[in-house]
Amino acid sequence: MRRRLAILGSWGLCLLAGAAINVLVAWGFALWDGMVYERIEHDPGEAMILMSGYRAPADWNIRTLVEQRGLGTHNVMITEMVWAGSTLAAMEGSRNRSVVVYEHGWPMRSLRVRGAHDSRATGDGLVRLWRSGIVLNDGSGNAYPVVLPVRPMPIGFAANTLLLGGVVWLVGVVGVGPFALRRVHRRRGGRCEACGYDLDGLDTCPECGSDA
Ligand SMILES: [Zn+2]
Repeated sequence: MRRRLAILGSWGLCLLAGAAINVLVAWGFALWDGMVYERIEHDPGEAMILMSGYRAPADWNIRTLVEQRGLGTHNVMITEMVWAGSTLAAMEGSRNRSVVVYEHGWPMRSLRVRGAHDSRATGDGLVRLWRSGIVLNDGSGNAYPVVLPVRPMPIGFAANTLLLGGVVWLVGVVGVGPFALRRVHRRRGGRCEACGYDLDGLDTCPECGSDA
């Protein structure tokens, strides 16, 4: 019983560690500018928008689609604003509605921000923390927005947590890892596990004195 509890406990701890690493990795990609692909589409067609994985309501007058992809990152912005060469510009008389989606994580994207903007909505702008994440830089001025997402994407979050928790379990509990592999390699080669010296059949290592 006690042993079973200990095993369950170690599994739980590994999963918790996996979840924590998962969050840190996703935030790392949010902070790291690893974009490898960016496209800005003017007056994007329906097919173009669907390719980004998101769609805005049909009554929107969509003028710009901005999509960025990179390792651990997928950002999409669908907006009624226009692209003015280097930045988005609001249109007079328009509600300038936008939806912004930032997704980060590795190997699957696991945390997301999904923010909406409507210049005529009351209490405009910031949605709850759950949706909008921890905003380190809101992108005003010329800086690129930096937001740490807090909202899990169910499948990606579960998959990453299981995978990373499994790695923690293998390294921390089973003892698989570079050092453990090196010990096995040395033992098979008839060398000292501690220092790698050729034992030549001896029981005690002549180099470092450890028992073979
Ligand atoms: Zn040795």
